[in-house]
Amino acid sequence: MLLKPFNLHTPKRLAAALELYGALPDVRLQAGGTFLLNNLKTLKRKGAKTPQHVISLFHIPELKGISREGGHVIIKSMTTIDEIYNSSQLTGKSSILHIAAKNISSQLIRNMATLGGNLTCRYTWTEMPATMIALEARLHFTGTNGEEIAVPAQEFFKNAAKTDKVFTHVTIAEDASVAMAYFRAKKSPYVDIPLLSLCIKTRPVQGRFSETIVAVNNCVTFAQRDYVLEGFLNENHIRPGIEEQALAYLDEAIYDTRSSDYKKHMFRVGIKHAIRDLIGKSHDYSRN
Ligand SMILES: Cc1cc2nc3c(=O)[nH]c(=O)nc-3n(C[C@H](O)[C@H](O)[C@H](O)COP(=O)(O)OP(=O)(O)OC[C@H]3O[C@@H](n4cnc5c(N)ncnc54)[C@H](O)[C@@H]3O)c2cc1C
Repeated sequence: MLLKPFNLHTPKRLAAALELYGALPDVRLQAGGTFLLNNLKTLKRKGAKTPQHVISLFHIPELKGISREGGHVIIKSMTTIDEIYNSSQLTGKSSILHIAAKNISSQLIRNMATLGGNLTCRYTWTEMPATMIALEARLHFTGTNGEEIAVPAQEFFKNAAKTDKVFTHVTIAEDASVAMAYFRAKKSPYVDIPLLSLCIKTRPVQGRFSETIVAVNNCVTFAQRDYVLEGFLNENHIRPGIEEQALAYLDEAIYDTRSSDYKKHMFRVGIKHAIRDLIGKSHDYSRN
């Protein structure tokens, strides 16, 4: 299907993109386009209004790349999912992003889709949101007036991932003493989108779970934390068998929302799998 006509703008600097974004009426931003172009086609099919202007962020070098600075990993918004998968900069806890990225869709989508698009598209079948919550990442935005703000990932998704600013980058504090685990199940064998995803972080201290974050994406609401499961884990030692007991301490509302029996079962499989993974990894932190 052909898209309805629009004016495509291709600024070369962030400042120029912000100026256009502030000045043009009826405008959308484009990163990799994997979500946006489908969205514009859906709007056309429904007979709804489509934007007059699209600003591509593709030619803006300030929005690309992964680096480490001052104890933080910085991932710019236009970094593709494939670049995240292949990056040697993502070590320690940030290496969990390799696993999340590897599981996203197909190579063709990973080549085009960006971190920024994944986090800001307000589509719940995405995997970076739960991962960023567990990593305690901060999302950085610049407004059309040039003002910069940083928001914890958890807050962003609690507020339904709404923004009228340009998302520029994410920062993740480096931390060598935490263990991370990731689990996802796919929705359909035909189009690889997730049915659910989970990312768990813990800081093993003297054989106990501590500062645990359980970030859950049930793929029908925005990614959120299971504080009930976190509380249970934080009161316990890291030991084999704890994963079975943990299933009695879940915030069921998260897992039951619009879930089939299969999905509820897969959540329990995922939680056990992720906790077992953490138990295995916690040996690496046995000095603590
Ligand atoms: C076939 C298919 C399979 C998929 N499977 C998976 C999967 O398995 N796992 C998964 O996690 N995701 C999956 N996705 C979703 C995919 O990851 C998203 O489509 C992608 O991440 C969006 O990124 P993009 O760069 O293409 O964004 P775009 O499509 O360009 O933009 C998406 C939205 O975000 C906004 N936006 C983009 N960048 C910025 C920015 N810097 N600041 C402010 N707003 C911005 C745009 O305005 C637009 O509204 C799949 C998508 C498809 C089409």
